[in-house]
Amino acid sequence: MDKQEFRKRAHQLVDWMADYLEQKEKYPVTPNTEPKTIYNQLPKNAPEKGESFDQIFEDFEKIILPGMTHWQHPAFFGYFPANNSEPSILAEMLMSTLGAQCMSWLTSPAATELEERVCDWLRDAKGIDSSWKGVIHDTASTATLSAILTAREKASHYQINEKGFVGDKVFRVYSSSHVHSSIDKAIKIAGLGVQNLVRIPVNQEFAMIPEELEKAIEEDLKNGFYPLCVVSALGTTSSTAVDPINKISEITQKHGLWHHIDAAFAGTALILPEYQYLMQGHEKADSYVFNPHKWMFTNFDCTVLFLKEPQYLINTFSLTPEYLKTQLDNEVNNYRDWGIQLGRRFRALKLWFVLRTYGLEGIREKLRNHLKLAKTVEEWISKHGSVEILAPVNFNTICFRYTQADLSVEKLNAINEKWMNEVNASGMAFFSHTKLESKFVIRWVIGQTDVEQKHLESAWVLLKEKLQSIL
Ligand SMILES: *Cc1c(COP(=O)(O)O)cnc(C)c1O
Repeated sequence: MDKQEFRKRAHQLVDWMADYLEQKEKYPVTPNTEPKTIYNQLPKNAPEKGESFDQIFEDFEKIILPGMTHWQHPAFFGYFPANNSEPSILAEMLMSTLGAQCMSWLTSPAATELEERVCDWLRDAKGIDSSWKGVIHDTASTATLSAILTAREKASHYQINEKGFVGDKVFRVYSSSHVHSSIDKAIKIAGLGVQNLVRIPVNQEFAMIPEELEKAIEEDLKNGFYPLCVVSALGTTSSTAVDPINKISEITQKHGLWHHIDAAFAGTALILPEYQYLMQGHEKADSYVFNPHKWMFTNFDCTVLFLKEPQYLINTFSLTPEYLKTQLDNEVNNYRDWGIQLGRRFRALKLWFVLRTYGLEGIREKLRNHLKLAKTVEEWISKHGSVEILAPVNFNTICFRYTQADLSVEKLNAINEKWMNEVNASGMAFFSHTKLESKFVIRWVIGQTDVEQKHLESAWVLLKEKLQSIL
């Protein structure tokens, strides 16, 4: 593709992109696709000869687009959103055009310094202690793994990195029973053994009970285990429950454990001063992660990990072989030493575009609107005679189910699952589910960039219609 053709096609695509963003509600939220139908439409072999842009784009529209789930659809209410925004998309275009690999200061000084600055901005906007420093990772999974590896290395005096696991220290990690599966995965990868993830019971609001945590740690100490780390959740994935950060921090300080706070989704709410009390005591913790790619209008992927003492992280990850050494290594951040990857994308650029386009005020306004809309939905649901809400609505996620006094949990679970599937099959809205105390509940997450009350009203009508028809 020559530069002139590039110019022409880029203009064409920008028009397509703008049309898509304007018309995204016209697509079914989820595709109606059987497994392998897309795979089978694609040729067995890679093309030997180059093809025209027209041919490629035609197939994009014919084969690929109908098989997409439209995550930016305002009626996508499932999982947690991965919401994006126009400035973020534009910044991604610039990022791929520059095509920079931002592993160290020298490989792009502006990328490194912008990253440091936007992380500082976010730290201060969220009320995180001003001595902490941030670094951008791809996902919360990777950031949490990095924190756990750091906790492990700090505790072993960097000896596991050096010698592998020798001796008989068995490390233990604690989290609530509603912990995200990425923690299980991190513990497996860190070689700690998933049996050593201790799931602490939760209270009736699904938040970790700190007394149970302390009991578990003391029990483990008696039994010769080595308590290493607590991963608390500021917004669990099931129901956005908030673990008591301050009390947990006191316990981790007392017993010398690392405290990592997983705020992957709900952490965005801390940009609102009225939510910052949830983080009280965090200055006694060690690390904190949140995903601008979930609820902060920054397209996937973009995670920020904050650390009280980044030096432990750097000690864990830095290698600096001869070919990567530079004269400035002591004066600058080389973010390749702040995580797992060597090569790094220029993700700070999209955060910068988003933060400057909306301003913190603009972001707060959008968040408050989502939270207000969630209150509205909560009211509708709680007024419905046979639908109940099963967890506190701490942010913008509502966990609800159909209920009836004389039906068993199994029967109700089957009805609710059918209800959700029928709604999703309509393509007009999309919900996902979780189980709370064995009860199947539908989750309604209201965090899309362009969601408005009218989308919620239509979804509520749809939900009620489908419920009627299956009963
Ligand atoms: C979404 C989520 C994660 C995982 O986030 P990724 O960025 O997809 O790895 C971890 N923890 C919680 C609480 C989450 O909600």
